Amino acid sequence: MTTTAPRDEQLWSRCDGCASLLYRKRLRRNLDVCPECGSHARLDAPERVAQLVDPDSFTPLPDRAVRVDPIDFVDVVPYPHRLGAARTGTGLDEAVLCGTARLGGHPVALAVMDFRFLGGSLGCAVGELITRTAERALADGTPLVLVTASGGARMQEGALSLMQMATVSQALAGLREAGLLTVSVVTDPTYGGVAASFATNTDVVLAESGARLGFAGPRVIRQVTGATLPDGFQTAEYLLRHGQVDLVVPRHALRGRLAALLAAAEAGRRPPAARPASRPAVAAPAVAGPAGDPWETVRTARHPGRPTTLDYLETAFDGFVELHGDRLGADCPAIVGGVARLDGRPVMVIGHQKGHTTAELVARNFGMASPAGHRKALRLMRLAARLRLPVVTLVDTPGADPGVAAEQQGQAAAIAENILALSVLPTPVVAVVTGEGGSGGALALAVADRVLMLEHAVYSVISPEGCAAILWPDSSAAPQAARALRLTGADLCRLGVVDELVPEPSPAAHGDPAGAAEHLRRAVAANLAPLLTVPPATLVRRRRQRFRRFGAARSAGPPATTVPGGTASAGGRPEVA
Ligand SMILES: [Zn+2]
Repeated sequence: MTTTAPRDEQLWSRCDGCASLLYRKRLRRNLDVCPECGSHARLDAPERVAQLVDPDSFTPLPDRAVRVDPIDFVDVVPYPHRLGAARTGTGLDEAVLCGTARLGGHPVALAVMDFRFLGGSLGCAVGELITRTAERALADGTPLVLVTASGGARMQEGALSLMQMATVSQALAGLREAGLLTVSVVTDPTYGGVAASFATNTDVVLAESGARLGFAGPRVIRQVTGATLPDGFQTAEYLLRHGQVDLVVPRHALRGRLAALLAAAEAGRRPPAARPASRPAVAAPAVAGPAGDPWETVRTARHPGRPTTLDYLETAFDGFVELHGDRLGADCPAIVGGVARLDGRPVMVIGHQKGHTTAELVARNFGMASPAGHRKALRLMRLAARLRLPVVTLVDTPGADPGVAAEQQGQAAAIAENILALSVLPTPVVAVVTGEGGSGGALALAVADRVLMLEHAVYSVISPEGCAAILWPDSSAAPQAARALRLTGADLCRLGVVDELVPEPSPAAHGDPAGAAEHLRRAVAANLAPLLTVPPATLVRRRRQRFRRFGAARSAGPPATTVPGGTASAGGRPEVA
């Protein structure tokens, strides 16, 4: 926002977005977001702190910036003159304001950059102050929130400014090791060395509406490549579509989103006994499952009215904060995930998302995850483990995306990595097959301590149609294949693949989505509760044992008397017969 004539300076501002003349007080009340066009004006660091934290809770760090000029840099004026002018102009010692505060009642360490101060550039003092803020978070055992606004590294400090990217990052690594949440709030603009370090290597990256983030700026890219840049290049919405940020958040919602994330992180650090359960978890009765034809069950499992993962997040869970993106280049719409509460307890929920209408199904790729979807899921699983949040997965997919692009992007390896990561994830995992459990795409979310299945769900190595096409004369034999594959819950309980069936309201979940959600909530809560007190190492050992038992081989016979080549290979490891 630019102010108008001097005498009106305190009263009126002109919006940079739509040129509306706005009453200054009204603009302030609206958090400096234009009420006409929604344009978010840049905030200085003190304003930003005031907007984000609980009133009167901010305590600046005692550490002060040291004025440095490590390489005696001079352009048209000596660097110290520029520093002095920035200090006078902003009233700040440096381009960052650091301290501790409470946010939504949760303690937090906070560093907020100020673009007015030499373009928010990252020099030795800025890097040191942010690093000390991270160290303070580590010492206090609190999350760290970084609000970025920067053109990049401070060239007047030469290679030492470049080193600040590593200085801050190694401090963030310490918080990661300690399981303390780190969140960056990317504001406009965030570029260069800040974008390529602590703006994006935090656990969660929130982008404020209107923010732009990139490594190279648009002008440089145009100069180097001569290319015309796509519409909205490097805007928050563009970054979300390309998997670079978790969420785009309008300014008025930032505090609430941050508070929800901080609450989840704080709950993960409390011992399970101290957590209140608002509603008692009642064990769902084990049911035998429908006795009807398995092909009918397949059709029920695929019913378009069946509740989806997002439906369950609305009904069986509370306070869902969706996190997006694989941080590599895409955000797969067929996988949704994020932090939510189950009976008041924060959990990480990850699930396949289908839809009820054709348009919804197409938009979600029919619940068939791309490699980016599996990588998003992996990122959220690992985040959950770091924050000691249990993971709940909701499985409903015909299978992983079988397309050309998916193959090129490593679909097989992406699924493989998830299966391996889940098998050793040091936090409780409960999986629920809610509809179709299709093949490797399903297992990529279903290596769990407890595997549940809705009464009318199916779980199979291949679709009945696919199986029929390969093993029968033609795919019209799908109903026979469905019977042969033993893909119903009752069959899978007998085989030990599934631990418990979750009852559905009559005739099935699509007839009473709210009732289905209630059954799911109870079953997940009842299965999760006993896992919460199990030490992570025991949990992982038991989970590995659970999946160890499915092999079949007979132990080798007595040792051979002569072994060709001279190496004794007899005996081998004992196998389950
Ligand atoms: Zn405007």
